[in-house]
Amino acid sequence: MSSPLHLVRHAVPFTRYPYRGEGMACNLCGESETLTVAETDRRLKRLRSVACTGCGLIRTDPMPSAAELDAYYASAYRAAYQFALGRRPPRHHLNRSRREAGFRAALLGPALRPGARVLDVGSGSGEFLAAARARGCDATGIEPGRTYAAYARAEHGARVLDRLDALPPDAAFDVVTAHHVLEHLRDPVDTLARLAGRLAPGGVLYAAVPNMAATGKPPHERFHFAHVHGFVRQTLDAAAGRAGLAPHPDYRREDTTAVYRHAAASDAPCRPEPGLAQTLAAALAPVRPGAYLASGAWLGPMVRRNAKAIRDTFAGR
Ligand SMILES: [Zn+2]
Repeated sequence: MSSPLHLVRHAVPFTRYPYRGEGMACNLCGESETLTVAETDRRLKRLRSVACTGCGLIRTDPMPSAAELDAYYASAYRAAYQFALGRRPPRHHLNRSRREAGFRAALLGPALRPGARVLDVGSGSGEFLAAARARGCDATGIEPGRTYAAYARAEHGARVLDRLDALPPDAAFDVVTAHHVLEHLRDPVDTLARLAGRLAPGGVLYAAVPNMAATGKPPHERFHFAHVHGFVRQTLDAAAGRAGLAPHPDYRREDTTAVYRHAAASDAPCRPEPGLAQTLAAALAPVRPGAYLASGAWLGPMVRRNAKAIRDTFAGR
């Protein structure tokens, strides 16, 4: 799967991704009926995304199989999206991660008190683990990517396991965080439920995913082969609700970045939203690639993305 040809097939615009996939019912509500919301992703490759008509959760269709996703992460992912062909995460990634870790720590505020048990799922190169440890927390990371996990251990002295099941069965945490993780999973509701099950009494769960309703870039820029699910505020809350969680009223909320706690009887139930799929399909109405290329609208985002990469590369020097 990691042959040069395979990597190339992940990069050529207007072609399909090299995978077969399989049909899947909605992970959030079980409904099978969908509306197509996109046929193209941010690399202008052919990739079909659908929204569930029952609840509005967006997913890749057909859904890559578990084996196809594993193979993708083992080979193409870091190389295709972060240009991390070396053994060390690139500087622009590290700078961006450090900045994000600072925002996340600030949002969680007093929850990151000395002695608090913190679990960061998808801990990457370990910047949030380092931020938590700097506040006196006892931090554990989960990171399947070997290069990044090794870097987090070596650079930050962090404790990093390769999967959730490797935790002791009775391990509980005061703070669990999952930053840009759920959109990568075939079964985000199950993972949220397992994370909710790890919360100590009074514990909080931070979840952040890309907001598919974000404006400011053309619709297809929001689609990405590695993101097999797409959320908006309502579907993130509904997924958390299925996992027995509710938004925590004491924390600042930003669209699809939210802090949850175990739902109390007084919390309003998060119900799937009928009609959300139609709203999303209209908002994400596909732009024809030819017309898009001719319009020159791709120029701005491309310049911004490169400017960002350059800034992140040199930040902190
Ligand atoms: Zn659904």
